[in-house]
Amino acid sequence: MINLRDLDITELGKFFKSIREPAFRAKQVFEWLSKGVDSFAEMSNLPKSLREKLERAEEDGQLSIGHIHILKRQNSATDGTVKFLFGLEKTPWDKEQIAVESVFMKYKYGNSICVSSQAGCRMGCAFCASTIGGLTRNLSAGEILMQVIGVQRATGEKINHIVIMGTGEPFDNYGNIVKFINLVHDQRGLGLSMRNITVSTCGLVPKIMDFAKDLPQVNLAVSLHAPNNEIRSSIMPINHRYPIEELMVKCRKYTEVTGRRITFEYALIAGKNDGLEQADELAGLLSGMLCHVNLIPLNEVSETGLSGSPKAQVNKFLARLESRKITATVRRELGSDIDAACGQLRLSHN
Ligand code: SAH
Repeated sequence: MINLRDLDITELGKFFKSIREPAFRAKQVFEWLSKGVDSFAEMSNLPKSLREKLERAEEDGQLSIGHIHILKRQNSATDGTVKFLFGLEKTPWDKEQIAVESVFMKYKYGNSICVSSQAGCRMGCAFCASTIGGLTRNLSAGEILMQVIGVQRATGEKINHIVIMGTGEPFDNYGNIVKFINLVHDQRGLGLSMRNITVSTCGLVPKIMDFAKDLPQVNLAVSLHAPNNEIRSSIMPINHRYPIEELMVKCRKYTEVTGRRITFEYALIAGKNDGLEQADELAGLLSGMLCHVNLIPLNEVSETGLSGSPKAQVNKFLARLESRKITATVRRELGSDIDAACGQLRLSHN
């Protein structure tokens, strides 16, 4: 079965040719899908006969328009953040309907969405809720796009920024992420600027230079969370496979090749990685590199038993980095009252 939201205009053109329709229908359908229509009946510039033909093909199970099912919507009482639970269309290999979370955030400079890239995650980071049930499956490009279109439709607001920082490891689903970004960037669709998109990885090293080549304008964030292998391996299993030295070599190369800075995410965990000794070690590791450190006060996930650093410690850590000429900021916490903050998104719901 073809999900039309997975197809770019060239592929849609081939699809229309295959059902003996002119290829120019591709652009019309792509535009409608990007606007968030949920039925062929709404595609008013298509001939009625074609709309009916597509409806019949959908009824017969040959294709899907990529329906958007909002299962749950939670509004933060404090900061305008909205968390959505989307139900994906059941594919033949799904035992039951899969649901994924996305978060809509309002900032001074525009509206932002945090999308999920996988149903679950297999990276196993000790502090994160998204990995608790393991990986169920990768999301297709259309299933990621559907989150953006679905949130735009539900809120009536235009999305200006996308961060791929929800559930999942984007570089573990690399091909679909590249495709999604190209779909969302297409001027005939949502037309988002590459520079307004950020991909966050826990450090799948071999993909970093692919990303530099395939999407040099898209922002890269790397979840570091520790300045040495001992601490990092104790909270991020991926570090056993790709230790910090290898990660840093590729990160430096990335900045040289693209001329763009990397954002390093560092969640401060009380008594684990938040000492001034670690701030010094981090400053040494990043010295002279085109980068920025984003300090995240750890968000609570009850199962992990880890707690966030006290505010005073966060400020001390920040001041120490700054004194060592590392640019750093503390990430503003949004949506923690609805479990929508970093690391709090999860796959299964009660
Ligand atoms: N897999 C990707 C993207 C998803 S996580 C990655 O690892 O980068 C987005 C960010 O939230 C990552 O930096 C992640 O390490 C961080 N994070 C996870 N759990 C967190 C928690 N409980 N508190 C604060 N940040 C957390």
